[in-house]
Amino acid sequence: MSKSYDVVVIGAGPAGYIAAIRAAQHGMKVACIDEWKNKDGKNAFGGTCLNAGCIPSKAMLESSELFHRAQHEFKKHGIKTGVIELDIAAMQKRRAGIVRQLTNGVAGLFKANGVDALVGHGKLLTGRKVEFTPIDGAAEIISAANVIIATGSEPLELPFAKFDGAEIVDSWGAIEFDSVPERLGVIGAGVIGLELGSVWSRLGSQVTIIEAMHDFLFMADREVAATAGKDFKKQGLDIKLGAKLTGAKPGKSGITVEYEDAGIPKTLEVDKLVVAVGRRPFTTGLLAEDSGIQLDKRGFIEVNDECRTRVQGIYAIGDCVRGPMLAHKGSEEGVMVADLIAGEIAEVNYKVIPSVIYTAPEIAWVGKTEQEVKESGRAYKTGSFPFAASGRAKAMEQTSGMVKIISSRDDDEILGVHIIGPMAGELIAEAVLAMEFSASTEDIQRTIHAHPSLAEAVHEAALAVDKKALNYPNK
Ligand SMILES: Cc1cc2nc3c(=O)[nH]c(=O)nc-3n(C[C@H](O)[C@H](O)[C@H](O)COP(=O)(O)OP(=O)(O)OC[C@H]3O[C@@H](n4cnc5c(N)ncnc54)[C@H](O)[C@@H]3O)c2cc1C
Repeated sequence: MSKSYDVVVIGAGPAGYIAAIRAAQHGMKVACIDEWKNKDGKNAFGGTCLNAGCIPSKAMLESSELFHRAQHEFKKHGIKTGVIELDIAAMQKRRAGIVRQLTNGVAGLFKANGVDALVGHGKLLTGRKVEFTPIDGAAEIISAANVIIATGSEPLELPFAKFDGAEIVDSWGAIEFDSVPERLGVIGAGVIGLELGSVWSRLGSQVTIIEAMHDFLFMADREVAATAGKDFKKQGLDIKLGAKLTGAKPGKSGITVEYEDAGIPKTLEVDKLVVAVGRRPFTTGLLAEDSGIQLDKRGFIEVNDECRTRVQGIYAIGDCVRGPMLAHKGSEEGVMVADLIAGEIAEVNYKVIPSVIYTAPEIAWVGKTEQEVKESGRAYKTGSFPFAASGRAKAMEQTSGMVKIISSRDDDEILGVHIIGPMAGELIAEAVLAMEFSASTEDIQRTIHAHPSLAEAVHEAALAVDKKALNYPNK
């Protein structure tokens, strides 16, 4: 007799593994299928995020940041060092170790919560059946009262700069370089391109980023984007905006990158090229022809606000459905769907999803940008506070950037919070919580913030919205 489950999850990235654990916590019989294989040939849970994305990239960002600070900031603090040397093998070993600990941790969580972890390929058949093909065995059919698809995404490949796994690589390849390329080209100045460009620039690469859009960080608030642009330039990142890649030819002395800048053909010689122009939903080999699941024009699985597909009992979450491709968005969808299956009321507040770019300085925001509020026609007020006026930021020698808050002029509702500066990714949590609770700017003004802390900059920006900032002249 075929195995049967209350819930079968296909994909154990941050969307799928969280959905599986929450469903098991509801007392349901759950299996989670995943086929991820790392470059060492070993299978691992955790998907893109834990193996090739969020976690390893942040490990490398931290290491490269420390290397940079030791070279350029220690002296200011009165710390003398000998020659600072880079041990890239040790750095990569640390990165791999963190990934291993966390991915093993997912396996441990499955065990602790009673989730059956199935290593292999999952294919959705009609009638809520899943064909499971283990990595080393014959296919079997599993019955499921509910199926949650969480198969994630894959990097977009450009036809004229195809990945070769050595010289022309995707983001995963760029995280795992075993030496510092002297000249690194990055196609795409989005979040991933900037983060990886920063890593290798701090470790000594001469980095050129080619971006087709004319607006730098088009999704961020303009003031924040302008500050970021200046900071990255100062750090030595050469970002060419409005430049269109036309070709990439590997040769004896590296890769010749061909691009058009304002219609003029140009070339650039690099040793490695990272193509980070976006990702697309991954559904290869997932759906039987009669599964009934609909894909949209861009290949995303069609779902409603509750992540339900058109087929009763089949849900899809994470990067393979509409919305920002962010781990925490996928995880929240996983929790929502598991709760809905358990008969609870659940929803995801898609208006309050934080975005973070882990460069130095970090960039983080939630809610609307000033341009978006302006376009909406809603009367608004803004307040900002520079980290240059923060005692804690000064003590940290990290004074670049600011906190900016945009609020409704009529009822004081917080509409957007934008931060560029030290620990912006942590500071944004206060703004997310405030917006989730529909707080007013005055609520933040009246909340006591510890001194001296970076969070005081959020407090002062809230005060500045009503021209009540105390530690900076009000405009
Ligand atoms: C370099 C980089 C840095 C990033 N940094 C961040 C960050 O800092 N913060 C953030 O929020 N997001 C970040 N992201 C994005 C984040 O990784 C994704 O949003 C997140 O991993 C999506 O989760 P998911 O569970 O939907 O899919 P995934 O993590 O892609 O997991 C999907 C899993 O499903 C498996 N699978 C697919 N099809 C099948 C099948 N048919 N059978 C069995 N298994 C299958 C895959 O092998 C994979 O393990 C980053 C991405 C990259 C590439």
